[in-house]
Amino acid sequence: MNLLIMGPAGAGKGTFSEKLIENYDIRHISTGDMLRDQVSRKTELGLIAADYMNHGRLVPSEIVNKMVEVTLGGDECANGYLLDGYPRTIDQAKELEEITERIGRKIDAVLVLEVGIEILEQRITGRRICPKCGAIYHIKWKPTKVEGICDNCGAEVIQRKDDTLEELKVRMDEYYKNTEPVIGFYEERGLVHRIDASGSTEEIFKNIQEILKSIV
Ligand code: AMP
Repeated sequence: MNLLIMGPAGAGKGTFSEKLIENYDIRHISTGDMLRDQVSRKTELGLIAADYMNHGRLVPSEIVNKMVEVTLGGDECANGYLLDGYPRTIDQAKELEEITERIGRKIDAVLVLEVGIEILEQRITGRRICPKCGAIYHIKWKPTKVEGICDNCGAEVIQRKDDTLEELKVRMDEYYKNTEPVIGFYEERGLVHRIDASGSTEEIFKNIQEILKSIV
């Protein structure tokens, strides 16, 4: 099963990706996580990407496309993949279509998470992540058991540099301008499933599972 998960920052892409890979044997590919890894290791690519990312702007597509192509073609995606945070522009969507056709791993469904802006603001500004294992917390709704320390691996949790109201505004502008047209691109191909992602995690995930039953 080959899936895309889409939605603005704070819609729950990371949370539902975690649940999807727990429940289905598919590989999670988050371009944001891959880029953050490059930034924290201070690789050549990471040094270029950091400036864009810290200001909520999109990293140049050549960099991201290459990373995705290498990963999608690997053995770890033979059973399926879940792309999260990619494609974010029409050009990336076209590039992905070429890649998936070439390697014979076409997309089966596009899950689009929909949430109002007030909820997104609360989720984003309260979000904390573990830089070591990627676990996601929220200071109010899903706090760590010991303040500031990841429940899974004991590392110190952090606030992403772009998880501020100011950066959220830039990311939302990017989303409306560049990423919403991508949903239209997949709608034309009959692949889009829209999900109301403002309720409880359990409720939303149940809806996602119902959708997936119809495509596998
Ligand atoms: P995310 O974790 O998906 O919210 O991504 C965090 C940041 O990484 C974004 O704000 C962009 O700067 C960068 N990024 C992630 N995926 C892409 C992509 N497909 N194209 C360009 N930039 C990306």
